Amino acid sequence: MLEISKIRNVDLDYLTYLLTTSEHDEEIFATADEMRRKYVGDEVYLRAIIEFSNVCTQNCLYCGLRAQNSSVRRYRMSVQEIVERAEFIAKLGVIGTVVLQSGEDPYYDTKMVTEVIMRIKSLGLAITLSLGERSFEEYRVWKEAGADRYLLKHETASPQLYARLHPGDSLESRKAHLLELKRLGYETGTGCMVGLPGQTPYDLALDLAFFRELDADMVGIGPFIPHPGTPLAHSKGGDVKTTLKMVALTRIILPDANIPATTALGSIDKDGRLLALKCGANVIMPNLTPNVYRDKYEIYPGKSSFYDTDLEAVQKALKTIEAAGLRLGRGPGGRRRIEALV
Ligand code: SAM
Ligand code: SF4
Repeated sequence: MLEISKIRNVDLDYLTYLLTTSEHDEEIFATADEMRRKYVGDEVYLRAIIEFSNVCTQNCLYCGLRAQNSSVRRYRMSVQEIVERAEFIAKLGVIGTVVLQSGEDPYYDTKMVTEVIMRIKSLGLAITLSLGERSFEEYRVWKEAGADRYLLKHETASPQLYARLHPGDSLESRKAHLLELKRLGYETGTGCMVGLPGQTPYDLALDLAFFRELDADMVGIGPFIPHPGTPLAHSKGGDVKTTLKMVALTRIILPDANIPATTALGSIDKDGRLLALKCGANVIMPNLTPNVYRDKYEIYPGKSSFYDTDLEAVQKALKTIEAAGLRLGRGPGGRRRIEALV
C-alpha cells in the first residue's frame, strides 16, 4: 500500500524508493488525480507563452539557446511587437495569463521590461516573467510595476549536477533568487528536468523536497530532451513514466499548487499533456510566439509547438482539456491556498 503520509512529509528514502520501482505507479497516479480534483478542482487554466527573445548570455549545457550554439538564428521582438501579441491573446477571451519568456538577454533592461509589464497589465491579463536570473532590484521594480508571477526553475536540486550543467554558477545562488522572488510577493514557480545525465532517483527526491521547502506556487516538470547543438547531444534524455510520476508526487506534496502539463512532455509523447492532466497537472501553456519566430526558439528538437498556428495551439489545448474530462478555467487562475495544508 502506498504510504501517503511519507510522501506528504517528504521522506527522502521513501520518495527515492518510489522513484526506483514501478510497483506503486498506478496508486500514485490515482492519488494525485484525486488530490487535484479535491484541492484545485476540474478547471484547467491556459497560460500563453510569448518567447520574445532567443538571445542568451548563459551556457547551460542542456539548452539549444546557449550562447555558444552559433547555429541559432537569433531574434529579439520589440516592445511594440510583444504588446501587440498580448493584445491578440487578450482578445481570444480564453486565456488570462501571459508568460513572457526569453534567454538571459540584458538588452531588455529594467525600463523596457517595466514598460512591457505596464502596457500588458492595462489589458487585464496576469503576467508571469521567465527571463532567467536578473538583479534583485529588477525583481522589485517589476513586481511594483504589476508583474504577478516569476518562473525560474531550479533545474536540479543536486548541487554537484547543478554546477556541472551551469558553468560558473551554483544551486545555492539559484535558490537565493527563488527565495527573494518569494519574499517580494511573486507567485513563484520553480521546476526541474527529469533524465539529466548522471541524475539519480535520490536527486529527483531532492527536487521534490525543494518544491516543498520553497512552498512553490507553480511547479514545471519536463523531461530533458537532448539537443544536437549542445555538449549533451548524445545523452539519453528523460522518459514519460518517470516525468509523470514526478508530476503526480508533486501534486501529493503540494496539493494546491499550479502544475503545468509541460510542452516538453507533449514533445516526447503526443499524449504527454493529456496524461499529465490525468495525474495531477492543472495548467497548459500554449505557445503563442509569433509564427515568424517560433522555430528559432529551439530549446530542444521536436518541440511540439513548432508546427502549430496560433489558433491550432489554443484549439489543441482546449481539446486536451476536454479529452481529460476537465473544463477550461477563466481569469488569471492564481494559486488558491488551502491554508490548512501549508
Ligand atoms: N532563460 C530562462 C531560464 O533559463 O529560466 C527561460 C528560458 S529557458 C529556455 C526555459 C526552460 O527550458 C528551462 O528552465 C529549462 O528547464 C528548459 N530547457 C532548456 N533546455 C532543455 C532541454 N534540452 N530539454 C528540456 N527542457 C529544457
Ligand atoms: Fe539561456 Fe535559459 Fe537556455 Fe540557460 S536555459 S541557456 S539561461 S535560455
